[in-house]
Amino acid sequence: MPLPTSIRKSLMQIVLLTTGIVLLFTCAAFFTYELVTFRQSMVRQLDTLSQAIASNSTAALAFANPEDAQSVLAAFKADQHIVAAALYDQSGTLFAAYPQSLAADALPARPGDIGYRFEGGHVIGFEPVAEGGQRLGTLFVKSDLKAIEQRFELYGVIVAIVVALSAVLAYLVSSWQQGRISRPILQLAETARAVSDRHDYTVRAAGPGNTFEIDLLTDAFNHMLTQIQQSDRRLHAQMARLSLLQQITGAIGERQDLQSIFQVALRSVEENLPIDFGCVCLYDTPTATLSVSTVGAASQSLAPSLDLAELSIVPIDGNGLSRCIQGQLVHEPDVREIQYPFPQRLARGGLHSVVIAPLAVENKVFGALIAARRQAHSFSSGDCEFLKQLSQHVALASHQAQLHSALQHAYDDLRQSQHTVMQQERLRALGQMASGIAHDINNAISPIALYTESLLEREPNLSDRARSSLTTIQRAIDDVAGTVARMREFYRQREPQLTLVLVDLNRIVEQVIEFTRAKWYDLPQERGAAVELRTELAATLPGVMGAEGEIRDALTNLIFNAVDAMPEGGTLTVRTRVSPGPAGVQCVRIEVADTGVGMDEETRRRCLEPFFTTKGERGTGLGLAMVYGMVQRHSAEFEIDSALGRGTTMQLIFPAYTQEFMATMRMPAEKFPQRKVRVLVIDDDPLIIRAMEDALTADGHSITSAHGGQAGIDAFLAAHGSPNSFGLVFTDLGMPHVDGRKVADAVKRSSPRTPVVLLTGWGQRMLDDNEIPPHVDRVLSKPPRLQELRIAIRELTA
Ligand code: ADP
Ligand code: MG
Repeated sequence: MPLPTSIRKSLMQIVLLTTGIVLLFTCAAFFTYELVTFRQSMVRQLDTLSQAIASNSTAALAFANPEDAQSVLAAFKADQHIVAAALYDQSGTLFAAYPQSLAADALPARPGDIGYRFEGGHVIGFEPVAEGGQRLGTLFVKSDLKAIEQRFELYGVIVAIVVALSAVLAYLVSSWQQGRISRPILQLAETARAVSDRHDYTVRAAGPGNTFEIDLLTDAFNHMLTQIQQSDRRLHAQMARLSLLQQITGAIGERQDLQSIFQVALRSVEENLPIDFGCVCLYDTPTATLSVSTVGAASQSLAPSLDLAELSIVPIDGNGLSRCIQGQLVHEPDVREIQYPFPQRLARGGLHSVVIAPLAVENKVFGALIAARRQAHSFSSGDCEFLKQLSQHVALASHQAQLHSALQHAYDDLRQSQHTVMQQERLRALGQMASGIAHDINNAISPIALYTESLLEREPNLSDRARSSLTTIQRAIDDVAGTVARMREFYRQREPQLTLVLVDLNRIVEQVIEFTRAKWYDLPQERGAAVELRTELAATLPGVMGAEGEIRDALTNLIFNAVDAMPEGGTLTVRTRVSPGPAGVQCVRIEVADTGVGMDEETRRRCLEPFFTTKGERGTGLGLAMVYGMVQRHSAEFEIDSALGRGTTMQLIFPAYTQEFMATMRMPAEKFPQRKVRVLVIDDDPLIIRAMEDALTADGHSITSAHGGQAGIDAFLAAHGSPNSFGLVFTDLGMPHVDGRKVADAVKRSSPRTPVVLLTGWGQRMLDDNEIPPHVDRVLSKPPRLQELRIAIRELTA
């Protein structure tokens, strides 16, 4: 590759070369011409001279006078270039020579042809010498060519000077003129470098203005820059939109609900496209209307004046909206020209151009993205394309959000059912466990129940205080028994044998408050924390159908929990009120509110689960589970309202019962006429035996007791047939070795008519399960009530 040369140098070379060649040709032509003409004139001069000499030498030849001839020839001296001359006579013999000294062999021996010729650096010529038409001889002339050489030497010098001068001149002229060409080219190069270095396509090259081709080149170059600038601008805009799109899709990808997806998309478009107003509408197929779902944050202020605030309805007429609903992107560069309500509405709000992009999933349009600007004709095709793509992304994200929430629902449902199943499982487990515990508790409380009842009945001199205490004890025992029974029945959805009576909730509330005084008053005070109790009981409260004991338990639990939640003290509010319930049914509410620690989300969700407790060792996690069981068995409702750190309100909502139910109050305890019976009491628990003995003896019966099944059978058989034989046998069911069933068996075998009453700590469950053993006349559950014992004795011995 040849080394690059500068334009300046190339131009110079061209000019000099051209000048040189021109000069060379000129000179060559000139020299040739000179040579030819000079030779001709030389020959002519020589001829003239020779003719003159020849005419002068006629006499010398005619008279054969060599001296004369010699002197005539001497005339050649006038021309220094004549190197030789000679005269030949008629016969061709040398007659005279010039110069005289010239050797004869330097001359031709005989005259040649008439005329002149160039020969060996000389011109030689032969001239006839004649007189009156008679040839006398011949003249020979020889001249050198020094004259030509001299002349040409001079010409050479002149040519050299001319060439040198023209070269200098050409150099000067070309260096003056080459700037006209190279300067704009260098400037172009400079501009091109500026463009490529700074990526600044706004610079333009200035043409010389006087060189057509270079001006053309500059114009073309500038035009090219304009083109590049435009496509660069387009490219930039495209890149910006692409990155905006990417940014928006990234942002909406993180959202899961429609509102925030729309909001994010709109905000980005408002800020970055930008637009003056943006909203998303959702399409309602049945009414064929669009309703505004979300208005961009920056567009909020404009929305009311456009009647496009959130939730407002946009009817679809023959305007762009209908095309959009068919799935097309609609672009109105100037809405003022469109005579339809929606564009007119925008125009009135000062928005003059609008793009409406459909939101579609699987070819089904479910909404539209509306973007508007104040200036007419302000959306480029790039903007439209961008909005189209954005709407596709938004549609996809919305679709995914919908799928997500559907999935979430399904998942929640599943979790709910799993939760229910789990709860039932736990209830079942608890029920089985509880039934064992219940047995022991029932046995344990049986003596207390019997003694309390007897004391109340048979000690007329009891002080009021003692009587009231005993009544409380009795109620508490009843509740314990009831609680134990329900504990066992946990896993049942509804206790069929639950006997509902008309209950006055105000009275129950008062009782429970009284019951739980120690919990909410004494204990906190010991710790130095004050719980202030507020009772707000409705003046008149309709009754509800319910099991008093259960409701009492539930309320007790609620109060206990409320107090537990206020370790630093606080206000405990118990309220009853009537409220309209669903479907016009009146409801009675009991509300227990505390100002305690409240529950977090997790606790709130799990608090009803059996065994769920946040109280560690102190809690059983059964309280609310029992409340919940009661609520279900009463067809009531349970509402929990709690906020962490702000306390908890729990409400029991019972359907109210009307006045006519008041009649079905619990029957007053009956006073039975006594009939003395000999009774055999068999149990493995001495305390129960003692209590039964004491209670029944007081009624006037005669009691024999036996410790354990075998001892009982023995005692019965021993007395059987004698006047001391037993009129009735009470036997415990669960006893080691010989249980109640075997006792009943043995009794009936020897005396089929003696009634046998089975006392069982397994309680109601046995009755439900049709487990009444043969030979047993009645089953009573522990703890036995005095009344029940009396009824059994009276009825079975009647
Ligand atoms: P326990 O009282 O034995 O913990 P519960 O079933 O009565 O069992 O209550 C379950 C859990 O519900 C409690 O451990 C407690 O976290 C929460 N809880 C119940 N009542 C309240 C209340 N009034 N305030 C705050 N938390 C409560
Ligand atoms: Mg509790």
